[in-house]
Amino acid sequence: MAKAVARYLMASILAETAAPHVVILGCGFGGLFAARALDGAPLRVTIVDRTNHHLFQPLLYQVATAGLSAPAVAAPIRHILADQANATVIYGEATRIDVARRAVVLDGGDEIAYDRLIVATGAANSYFGHEAWAAHAPSLKTLEDAYEIRRRVLLAFERAERETDPAKRAAWLSFVVIGGGPATRCAANSAASIRATRAWCWSRTASACCRAIRRASRNARGCSSSVLA
Ligand SMILES: Cc1cc2nc3c(=O)[nH]c(=O)nc-3n(C[C@H](O)[C@H](O)[C@H](O)COP(=O)(O)OP(=O)(O)OC[C@H]3O[C@@H](n4cnc5c(N)ncnc54)[C@H](O)[C@@H]3O)c2cc1C
Repeated sequence: MAKAVARYLMASILAETAAPHVVILGCGFGGLFAARALDGAPLRVTIVDRTNHHLFQPLLYQVATAGLSAPAVAAPIRHILADQANATVIYGEATRIDVARRAVVLDGGDEIAYDRLIVATGAANSYFGHEAWAAHAPSLKTLEDAYEIRRRVLLAFERAERETDPAKRAAWLSFVVIGGGPATRCAANSAASIRATRAWCWSRTASACCRAIRRASRNARGCSSSVLA
């Protein structure tokens, strides 16, 4: 209660004294750390994000393979910054920056004026010129992406469970991982996660799936096969 009062008073004082306004676009790692670094400064800080949660992307693959639920990797931005008196959180997508007028334009046309602007909107996916792959290999950057991959993976298991033709079942259980960077580790962990899920241990499909991913992972540079042990 005392904290909430202090927060309210500080916000009122900053508003009345027209403290410089810092706008931060995006509240991933970059935006959140920037906001935190400005805690206590005589500034008004506005954080704008097109989601209302901060997402811990490195564990997204666990959500995609049903190892973790969404709240384990995401937390409301307002909750994280609840104690920061000079911070305000706005849910919205920045569509344009009017540098000349020092204003950020949001979806719907609202504008937020700034004195200083921090752009921390992250990176977009790249298929390196193979855009057609996107339909078959969804990206993994948001909770929505993770849910989509989880849906596809678990449905493939379900289809395989009902399939009586061994060749068709093998096809349902073939997951291909392309690349040898951090995604390889994610794929290896995914296999381990699915295998460790009790429901699938009793399934006649579990081992086939793990073999398929293991083979792909071992061929990729930098894979730790012990993850699959
Ligand atoms: C699957 C996966 C695994 C990873 N594993 C690791 C790892 O093991 N170790 C490691 O160091 N790094 C890892 N990374 C990379 C790491 O997560 C990123 O480098 C980091 O999240 C980048 O932080 P960021 O703040 O720049 O962007 P992001 O975390 O992407 O945050 C950008 C934010 O901006 C918001 N945003 C975007 N556009 C707009 C807009 N127009 N208007 C308003 N808001 C907007 C988004 O909603 C988001 O909240 C991984 C990434 C992924 C995807």
